[in-house]
Amino acid sequence: MSVQSMTNVPIEDVRGTIDQIERLREAGAELVRVALRNESSLDFLKNIRAAVDMPLSADVHFNHRIAIGAIEAGIDKVRINPGNIGDDAKVREVVRAASEHSVPIRIGVNGGSLDRSRYPELNAESLVASAMEHVRILEDNSFFDIVVSIKASDVRLTVEANRLFAATAPYPLHIGLTEAGYGLSCVVHSSAAMGSLLLDGVGDTIRVSMTGDPVEEIAVARNILEAVGLRAAPVRVIACPTCGRTDPSLDLLSIAREVEDELLRRFGDMLARSGRGVVVAVMGCEVNGPGEAAHADAGIAGGRGGRMLLFARGRKTRRISADEAVGALADEVCRILEEGCE
Ligand code: SF4
Repeated sequence: MSVQSMTNVPIEDVRGTIDQIERLREAGAELVRVALRNESSLDFLKNIRAAVDMPLSADVHFNHRIAIGAIEAGIDKVRINPGNIGDDAKVREVVRAASEHSVPIRIGVNGGSLDRSRYPELNAESLVASAMEHVRILEDNSFFDIVVSIKASDVRLTVEANRLFAATAPYPLHIGLTEAGYGLSCVVHSSAAMGSLLLDGVGDTIRVSMTGDPVEEIAVARNILEAVGLRAAPVRVIACPTCGRTDPSLDLLSIAREVEDELLRRFGDMLARSGRGVVVAVMGCEVNGPGEAAHADAGIAGGRGGRMLLFARGRKTRRISADEAVGALADEVCRILEEGCE
């Protein structure tokens, strides 16, 4: 499962594109797509390819010469819809280049650009039928290294279309919600769409499409993968919403944030290297907290008068003051991890 994104600076700005790709890579992107608007884009692409050591995908519309040029420039994947290239000879040229360089072709069908003269109704069936038209053109040319994306801005439509495609054809799916907007709305809508699909086992690569700096997409994508259990979060803090049982002297939100910061500071690198994850709980009361957080490795629960209860591996350990709770919890995590921590 790889996390993907796309640059949003013009490719003519080679330095800016390289910088953005590097920032995306540092944030955790595993493949970055760049849009090639015309044949002169290929010269810029070559410079970018030479400067960047990570998988790149070329986004090409209609022009088979750009697709072939991108493949020959060392791109790792090309997005082009064979039904939009033109005659069969042009398709064959693209397929030959992709085969020779072992470059997959990604077919991308979007709700907003569905050919409504051929498919008057926008629904899961028409999106899948459109994708399959492109697929068959490649199959007819004995090309099967195919990735498909079917995206819409509507969560239900996106989920239904991808489920249908997964039941129709054996090709990997790049999933995402297109035109998902920005901020909280984008996060919620994208999570609903991709979370549903991933929990069904549908989806091989993901992209969160967020208006603004694409680097912000990566954290959302990684969180979605963590939420559905496809990636381990180095540190996962579960915290209760608090209620009338929480002692008013406790600022549970601040404590939870401090716990996450401290655990990441002390163990983040080690956990990321090892691929392990630790789950800790920050709960508002001793009555229900430890029980509600039974699946956490360790945790703290609020008591009365500035005291908290420390618990680990499902057992109560000792009472501590709220002031020492963050450090004591981190020490408990250190004992659980057993090695490599201070
Ligand atoms: S853990 Fe305690 S304080 Fe938190 S929501 Fe549950 S009952 Fe309320």
